[in-house]
Amino acid sequence: MPEEKNWYAKYPDEIPTTIVYDEKPLDYFLAATAKKFPKKKALHFMGKEMTFEEVYTEAKKLAGYFQSLGLKKGDRVAVMLPNSPQAVISYYGALMAGAIVVQTNPLYKERELEYQLNDSGAAFIVCLDVLLPRVTNVRGKTPLKHTVVTGIKDYLPFPKNKLYPFIQKKQYNMVVQVEQSEDIHLFESIIEKSDGAYTPVEIDPENDLALLQYTGGTTGHPKGVMLTHYNLVANVQMCQRWLYKIKPGEKILGVLPFFHVYGMTTVMNMSIMYGFEMILMPKFDAEDVLKTIQKQKPTMFPGAPTIYIGLLNHPNLNKYDLSSIEACISGSAPLPLEVQDQFEKITGGNLVEGYGLTETSPVTHANFIWGKRINGSIGVPWPDTDAKVVMEDGKEALIGEVGEIAVKGPQVMKGYWNNQDETDNVLKEGWLFTGDMGYMDKDGYFYIVDRKKNMIIAGGYNIYPREVEEVLYEHEAVQETVVAGIPDPYRGETVKAYVVLKPGYEVDEKELNAFCRENLAAFKAPRIYEFRDELPKTAVGKILRRQLADEEKEKAAES
Ligand code: AMP
Repeated sequence: MPEEKNWYAKYPDEIPTTIVYDEKPLDYFLAATAKKFPKKKALHFMGKEMTFEEVYTEAKKLAGYFQSLGLKKGDRVAVMLPNSPQAVISYYGALMAGAIVVQTNPLYKERELEYQLNDSGAAFIVCLDVLLPRVTNVRGKTPLKHTVVTGIKDYLPFPKNKLYPFIQKKQYNMVVQVEQSEDIHLFESIIEKSDGAYTPVEIDPENDLALLQYTGGTTGHPKGVMLTHYNLVANVQMCQRWLYKIKPGEKILGVLPFFHVYGMTTVMNMSIMYGFEMILMPKFDAEDVLKTIQKQKPTMFPGAPTIYIGLLNHPNLNKYDLSSIEACISGSAPLPLEVQDQFEKITGGNLVEGYGLTETSPVTHANFIWGKRINGSIGVPWPDTDAKVVMEDGKEALIGEVGEIAVKGPQVMKGYWNNQDETDNVLKEGWLFTGDMGYMDKDGYFYIVDRKKNMIIAGGYNIYPREVEEVLYEHEAVQETVVAGIPDPYRGETVKAYVVLKPGYEVDEKELNAFCRENLAAFKAPRIYEFRDELPKTAVGKILRRQLADEEKEKAAES
């Protein structure tokens, strides 16, 4: 529990500023929920439903199987799956066996997979059948010993040898035949044949790791964030307090991928700890999401701005009834005010902005869902979470002054895996330096100005892309935008805007430029515009500035 307090914000009476944290391993809660609500639905996946008891039973079987293969406490198990029943069962099965889960993005190419398996030392992986060739190709170059293979089809309530036309992505349509061998194990037959006996492992929640979550590919290789059982449990308990009006049995939409810490905590672990039913979606497709909301009627829908933007711009938006939505937290990138307003009008629910990072399990701040919120702010620090703004000289900033945001609390990571130097760079006396620039107002609400390293310096002026993006989003024709600094021989950098227009709109550079100059100091207005059909994004929908920057570098090298 943090000793120092930094409470400026007033909390609603229903939310305590201090919580008693359950000092239990994360997987304990699957057993507890299965006992409390055995027959309640834990998940829904394309027509297939599973109760908490079923999920628990299958996770036990997998745990026992891992142990029979020689898995010991602290061994690493990589899970390379899209949102699916297997993703939940593998994650909890690995934890029950005493392992540390290594979340692996199913889109990783061989090079990235090889790096992650070597860095984490994972000897086990659970992967989708279509990814097996990729895993097999890197196997000999990594510590990997055992591969458990599963197919999306294993959990669909349809004949196994049929194709599934309603799953649009090609890879999920394939029926892949995989032979069992000494090192390749079929998930389906483990579940069919195993008796579920496993040996419970003693876990020290505060010190033992539950997860290695890779992040920070923007500077060289990704680093493995070490999150303990206690970190993860504490963050879910905080989430639940924030969503105090939502009751067990209500539904939560799982569009965010569980292999990213954001979807993992706010959808998967929330549901398992508190008995919510998760509606699993293996990928984001706007129309599928709209249909699913109408049919399944989820009340909670954590997301990222690009997800909400994608829905709001769908041509059939008005055909669907989205009125079940009550509570949404948007994180991972700034939420444009326009998007927030429109989404709330259409659903009648509340969409508030929150903030966090992989290193903090992830959430540290949010606006109150049923209380005071300030548009444009990331909200207030969560229970037991201290936050401060630190100036270059190490002094704490005054109200309204911009500096680096640092946070401290039970959700803050233990450090980076095998990387003491990087750990020492960001963790100082329990405070995590986030690399995000921002300020706090007199009521204790925080604002992110931008990422430290996104700041553009053009002609000696400091420009934060977010401010320029906010203005562009106010233009009626702009669907999505990202602003970046590109090398300029005279000004050091110059401001460039990448813009995706809404369908049916036509505007040119001149019009957008005039609009920006009306609303921004001239030095901040983009000098270059590039119109695109879409922008490159990460799995949670964050726009990949780095990819755009690399493209610029390549262009510069060619010219
Ligand atoms: P990740 O570790 O992938 O979850 O990314 C964390 C980073 O996302 C933070 O350090 C911020 O730069 C950014 N981020 C998260 N939430 C917000 C938000 N509401 N506004 C602006 N940036 C955000």
